[in-house]
Amino acid sequence: MRAMVLDKPTQPLQSRDVPKPKPARGQLLVRISACAVCRTDIHVVDGELPDPKLPLIPGHQIVGRVEEIGERADSKFQIGDRVGIPWLGWTDGDCAYCRSGRENLCDNALFTGYTIDGGYSDFTVADARFCFHLPDRYNDVEAAPLLCAGLIGYRSYRKTGNARRLGIYGFGNAAHLISQIALYEERDLFVFTRPGDTATQQDAKELGAVWAGGSDEMPPEKLDAAIIFASVGPLVPAALRALAKGGIVVCGGIHMTDIPSFPYADLWEERVITSVANLTRRDGEEFFELAPRVPIKTKTETFPLEEANIALDRFRAGQLKGTAVLTIAE
Ligand SMILES: [Zn+2]
Ligand SMILES: [Zn+2]
Repeated sequence: MRAMVLDKPTQPLQSRDVPKPKPARGQLLVRISACAVCRTDIHVVDGELPDPKLPLIPGHQIVGRVEEIGERADSKFQIGDRVGIPWLGWTDGDCAYCRSGRENLCDNALFTGYTIDGGYSDFTVADARFCFHLPDRYNDVEAAPLLCAGLIGYRSYRKTGNARRLGIYGFGNAAHLISQIALYEERDLFVFTRPGDTATQQDAKELGAVWAGGSDEMPPEKLDAAIIFASVGPLVPAALRALAKGGIVVCGGIHMTDIPSFPYADLWEERVITSVANLTRRDGEEFFELAPRVPIKTKTETFPLEEANIALDRFRAGQLKGTAVLTIAE
């Protein structure tokens, strides 16, 4: 099968013919039709995340069809079913985190397109218990970005509780999807972009934000919560300063540059800083139930599988008009 393979971080992916995997016990063999590109893929390729499997097939927003079912695989899937494969690929089910409903923090978790092979290829295998049925409303390309930008964005959003005035720093893929839920749930949305990025600020206002400005600006009202999707550490104290008492800053990314020091007074009055790591299957079930009701719309730009490096370059350079999705089979 064709695959785009990372041999060594910081090097471009290599287009290669590799053996088609066989489904082990509990796994599905999936013929991939689309795989969306996530910022995490860039962090993996650029060597910003430690210890990836090598060589590695990246990609963890995978849509495909079940081609073969391994022994004792979860019976919720039949041959030919459409299936979504997310970042959380496997957990032990047995550690203190798994046993307390926090499988996203599992000590031994495996991650698709990072510590196990992902979806920049014709086929992949995945543990059936961690795969999702996807809402019929979305075609394969439309559904792909929901699998990480949507899911992990949703987990970040849920951490903001009932915050009425919600700030979002970094208006990329996850922010675009989660803003639609926030507006559906009648939150007041304040969007922060790179200073001077008036085009993105305009997009945010058109979507329904009550205010959009640069990340160096203060919002017209104090915020009850802020989610940071940009991997820029100095945004943490900036967001903290924009919070009302008791507010929360949620860092939604897997990687961030260092956070500069700030006065304790900015944190005092029960302000909270937290991060989001990975997802649970429950997040996925809730999100895929909610997405078609909003309905969340995805914006995508497609690339053939062989152009994965071009998609990554354009993502790095901020030149994409939507989520890059690699199209693999028709
Ligand atoms: Zn565990
Ligand atoms: Zn991701």
